[in-house]
Amino acid sequence: MQVFKFGGASVKDAEAVKNVAKVLKQFPGQSLGIVISAMGKTTNSLENLVNTFFYKSGNPEEILEEIKQFHFKICKELFSNPNHPIYTELENTFVELHWAIEDEPTHSYDFEYDQIVSMGEIISTKIVSAYLNEAGLKNTWVDIRGIIQTDNTYREGKVDFELTEALVNKLLIPKLNTNPVFVTQGFIGGTSENFTTTLGREGSDYTASILAYCLNAKNVTIWKDVPGVLNADPKWFNRTKKIDELSYHDAIELTYYGATVIHPKTIKPLQNKQIPLYVKSFLNPKEEGTVIKDGEKRLNIPSYIFKVNQVLLSIQPKDFSFIAEDNLSDIFELFSKHGVKINLMQLSAISFSVCCDHDEIKIKALVEKLKEFFKVLYNSGVELMTVRYYTQDTIDALTKNKIILLEQRSRYTVQMVMKNDPE
Ligand code: ASP
Ligand code: MG
Repeated sequence: MQVFKFGGASVKDAEAVKNVAKVLKQFPGQSLGIVISAMGKTTNSLENLVNTFFYKSGNPEEILEEIKQFHFKICKELFSNPNHPIYTELENTFVELHWAIEDEPTHSYDFEYDQIVSMGEIISTKIVSAYLNEAGLKNTWVDIRGIIQTDNTYREGKVDFELTEALVNKLLIPKLNTNPVFVTQGFIGGTSENFTTTLGREGSDYTASILAYCLNAKNVTIWKDVPGVLNADPKWFNRTKKIDELSYHDAIELTYYGATVIHPKTIKPLQNKQIPLYVKSFLNPKEEGTVIKDGEKRLNIPSYIFKVNQVLLSIQPKDFSFIAEDNLSDIFELFSKHGVKINLMQLSAISFSVCCDHDEIKIKALVEKLKEFFKVLYNSGVELMTVRYYTQDTIDALTKNKIILLEQRSRYTVQMVMKNDPE
């Protein structure tokens, strides 16, 4: 069994879906688990739908109609027969979605979010599975919500691996005896009460990894619109290099610091079972790509992770007392309560500095709370640069015309919070 993951960009329109079939045709007769994300930017549109529905800030019907039209347009290009069952199936799914926004929201935002946003993957997999069957790639559509089991932390479901593995053995493996290819949703799971959860944005990679773990797959391939893992994001750097081979350790470090090529949670289950992970281009599927596997080999080039729109908070006790374990634990609790993730932190005698993504709403609420107990200084509009396997030359080049507000170096990694020097 091999597990493949196709992200939103690889199914963004009818052409892209046809290309998925082309990629899959290179693996005839093989046992494949195919994990698919919502089409194109559908997850963002669905988030928009939840927001207008929940906060009554616009017209949810209009947004839903746009999402519906987007998918029907793709279907029309994929299925010329207007009586193809996919059309009724989609109509029914959209009726369900419509029900979800008809009544007043009764549950928490996060709960409503998961019930609605998860439909992006349900819809995309129905379309892709039907198209592949049509194209001669016989597959079974699997509703992953009955297999990947999570707790009820909506929007960040924690996977129960033991239960999930048991359900894979009981429900999924028998299906593979009749048909060794299945198509299923990334990003989503289910609770013991049969509610839907999501695993965090960009979580489809993680789904592929969970399934590979439970199925003892031979390998996982993430098919992307880039040739593999690059040493920097081409959005920010113009001379990027593809990395041919990466250790699990380096991969987890890079994703932890914010490399967006793979979801950070993807590596652990694969490392635990020594399953190699390939990152390849769906445009050039025969090319090598990157392999992530066990190994000691260090990268021989620096990797760069650049994050903009950061905020640097400096938290100080009001009475000049030391920052110590007890007030630190209070501070961490507040961060966790407000769902603010820390990208970098540094401690000194009377100050604790933290760099995080500048999510206006969350940061504002957090700072207000912190101010009840501490003095809080803050610097917004800053950047966070992380370099793994840095050299002094790379640091000099990156910090030209920048003011460094905070720096942290370990043997292999340097992190700098900086802003443009107006001079
Ligand atoms: N569709 C989800 C998202 O956009 C999951 C994924 O693409 O991995 O976040
Ligand atoms: Mg995606």
